[in-house]
Amino acid sequence: MKKYAIIDGHTDVLYSLPMQQRKFHQESERGHVDLPRIRKGNVSAMFFAIYPGINQYFVLKGARNLVDLVKEPKNELMFIKKFSDLEKAEKENKVGVIFHIEGVGGFDTEFHILNLLYHLGLRSFGITWSNSNIFGSGSSFTPGAPKDTRGITAEGRELILEANKLRVIVDVSHLSDKSFWDVLEVTKKPIIASHSCCRAISPHVRNLTDEMLKALAENGGMMGINFANAFLREDCGREVDTPYTKIIDHIDHVVNLVGPDHVGFGSDFDGTGVPDEIKDVTGFNKLVKELERRKYSEEDINKICHGNFQRIFKKVWK
Ligand SMILES: [Zn+2]
Repeated sequence: MKKYAIIDGHTDVLYSLPMQQRKFHQESERGHVDLPRIRKGNVSAMFFAIYPGINQYFVLKGARNLVDLVKEPKNELMFIKKFSDLEKAEKENKVGVIFHIEGVGGFDTEFHILNLLYHLGLRSFGITWSNSNIFGSGSSFTPGAPKDTRGITAEGRELILEANKLRVIVDVSHLSDKSFWDVLEVTKKPIIASHSCCRAISPHVRNLTDEMLKALAENGGMMGINFANAFLREDCGREVDTPYTKIIDHIDHVVNLVGPDHVGFGSDFDGTGVPDEIKDVTGFNKLVKELERRKYSEEDINKICHGNFQRIFKKVWK
């Protein structure tokens, strides 16, 4: 098996480390992500999410914790702030950190916090985390909850334009369907769905319909496939015996629909229940093997593993 460097579109490791009382640089039996297991999975960079970003306190606390994590030499991490940092990280044998916030309800509407965090290294954010905030409405997980039909608000439109201007990636995972379409109407740059799946296979609200995937492709964007059992399965169940090959079924679906340039991995490791067979971030090796078994070309495996995310970085950050 050839080795492919992985860029993973979503991990909640920052959130799970203190919850599970474990250290990033030490291999653990708990959780999904730590440095030794990242090395075994051949992961070169991940989107490290600050969660939750619902208010200013959580945004600032998350940013401080992430900066602390990255500056600890034992963790062998490096912020990826521009495209050439990917190469620099590889040369210095560091794991790349893409600073991401999941839901920016904690941002002010004059964007002081956004601009400040950009200077610290923020390069990507999702507008909401399933809930709703001043900038827009999320997908909501709660059955029977009153539907927020606002979509993206006037403040949210300003936020997207400010992100475009600053060169920060806008992420539509966790948005309501109306918000998704509103973002596409406003943005001048490619966007991502960092950790979602295909609704044609699994009818979960967190997944994207074929129409959405086609529009995402037209925008030049991409989707990172989420490893959550509930988003992979036809019945949206949480059973951990979900076959790991379901992840590749979702990749197949996107590739058949819009080609190989608009899909990658967005594991959601340390933020969700994944198939037992995947276990943790070392499971990327199995996924690459399955792509090879399904006769994907080397070029396409490169795109899925990291090339498509790299294209977005180049386009949005330059
Ligand atoms: Zn999430």
